[in-house]
Amino acid sequence: MLDTYKFVNEPLPYDYDALEPWIDERTMHLHHDRHLQTYIDQLNTILKDYPLLQKWPLERLIIDLAKVPKKIQVAIQNNAGGVYNHLFYFDSMIPSGKEMPKELKRELIRNFGSVEQFLERLKKAALAVFGSGYAWLVCDLQGRMQIVTSKNQDAPLSAIMIPLLAIDLWEHAYYLKHYNLRANYIDNWFQVVNWQLVWQRFQKRKFDSMKREYILPHRKL
Ligand code: MN
Repeated sequence: MLDTYKFVNEPLPYDYDALEPWIDERTMHLHHDRHLQTYIDQLNTILKDYPLLQKWPLERLIIDLAKVPKKIQVAIQNNAGGVYNHLFYFDSMIPSGKEMPKELKRELIRNFGSVEQFLERLKKAALAVFGSGYAWLVCDLQGRMQIVTSKNQDAPLSAIMIPLLAIDLWEHAYYLKHYNLRANYIDNWFQVVNWQLVWQRFQKRKFDSMKREYILPHRKL
């Protein structure tokens, strides 16, 4: 993924069928090749007339949204968010069978009481999102973790909040296989979470908090 204009849709970091049987191949094709592609195309179209913004990394378009010309703010929010969130979500998955690093377990226990309680709370938050959006595990610059949700393509990315994990709750993420059963999708998705990357993202914030800069060049971890 090029970090700035023109954004390109790079291949997934795994095969389309790599997440089977939890997340199906057809959904991954549509999700990556059509849904993400559309956000990328729209973002490039919006930025076509804004040479200064073309130099901004993707994260900055989200973090510094208030500095973007007013008439394209909503479009940037939706489409830069749509690109960022999808890359973040796709990266957050890996073919099943990967262990959660014990350091991450320790952090989750510290913040949520137990790993099970964390999973339960994330699932509950994800189920409670009405309509389309995401549920996230985030941390602040002190490393305190919390679960948040976002609507549409909003991203909880700011100078003080660092996303660690995201689940896409738009129906296109699960409808073909799981129909309207979001809870089943969430349970299956837990089987393919890239916990190693969650831990790497968490460690990364130490460096970023020192610099007090744009966080998580998520493709470069
Ligand atoms: Mn999606």
